Amino acid sequence: MPLRNPVLSAIETYVPGLTTGYVAQAYGLPEADIAKLGSAENPFGPSPLGRAAVAAALDALSLYPNWTAEGLRKKIAAKYGLDPEGVICGAGETELIPLVIRAFTREGGTVAMHEPTFPVYHLAAEAEGRKPIFVPARDELVFDVDDLAAAARPDTGVAFVTSPHSPTGRVFAHADVERLARRLPDTLVVLDEAYWHFSDAPPGFNLLPRCPNLMVMRTFSKAFGLAGLRVGFAAAAPPLVRQLMALKSTWNMGCLQVAGAAAALDDDAHVQRTVAAIKEARAEIERRVNQTNRFQVLPGSQANYVLVKVLDPGLDSTRVFNELLKRGVIVKDCSVSFRALGKRWLRVDVGTRRHVDRFVAALSDIR
Ligand SMILES: *Cc1c(COP(=O)(O)O)cnc(C)c1O
Repeated sequence: MPLRNPVLSAIETYVPGLTTGYVAQAYGLPEADIAKLGSAENPFGPSPLGRAAVAAALDALSLYPNWTAEGLRKKIAAKYGLDPEGVICGAGETELIPLVIRAFTREGGTVAMHEPTFPVYHLAAEAEGRKPIFVPARDELVFDVDDLAAAARPDTGVAFVTSPHSPTGRVFAHADVERLARRLPDTLVVLDEAYWHFSDAPPGFNLLPRCPNLMVMRTFSKAFGLAGLRVGFAAAAPPLVRQLMALKSTWNMGCLQVAGAAAALDDDAHVQRTVAAIKEARAEIERRVNQTNRFQVLPGSQANYVLVKVLDPGLDSTRVFNELLKRGVIVKDCSVSFRALGKRWLRVDVGTRRHVDRFVAALSDIR
């Protein structure tokens, strides 16, 4: 075929979590009964302030938006004590990740990340003609930033650190992130704080004044409940952000995204309610899963999900995933969704109390 691009035709693409509609249809279950615990979405829905602002912005649809999403950048900067020139917005972090890889890694160069990790990092690296360097855990799912530094090469343009990490939910200490940035002065270190609200960690923005090669990424998809709106941002030194501005597609942020995210930023009530409920349910799910003696939660998650290990030697993660689906519970089978995790792990969102009950009851029912 004349239009065949050998890089793009060979790469894998993203494997999304299943939808409630699909599971309802496939298993003959009422859609409203399905517990969707595979995509780390907010079980309390979108920020009400964000939702109302999207509706109020509809009349602006005929106008081109500001090309840098200036209104939203200024609000983000004011909220987190940043320079607006050091903030760039995207259609989720997922738009910014390939941009950052293209801007700061030369063609054929490498991008360092832990393994397993958020798949978008390596999917984007490969799609952009860069090579992922995968850095394994030490003991069972214990990751170290110094291993990232040791694995990096002179052509490593970007190193990703996810804190809380996906899929373990564990956080990295600021001192570790700072040390990584110092050890790799010619590499952009990206600290992905998509799940920061659910943790007890101080904001990564605190490190920016001390680390000129650090970038912090955040999303509106999780704690703010706006995964469908597609808004994320990155904060870094203005000279780094200016290069990304030159590369991004001109009007990447629509007026509904800008209005919804700017209003959600003020919705402390929604975020606090979400975070409080999830922290409480996270302790509960861990206690109850461990009581089964056939499954065990990996300790230490500070995210809105936990990793559940299948201890029962008669079962594996794919079998448990399918048995949960039959019972109307959607989770992530890590053997499909994450590299190098094998057949013993499921990632399960910490939803509402009702979701915890549904999940534990379905899990206990599997033989
Ligand atoms: C969910 C998630 C994101 C957010 O992606 P968006 O494109 O902003 O929805 C970023 N990083 C990690 C590790 C995630 O799990």
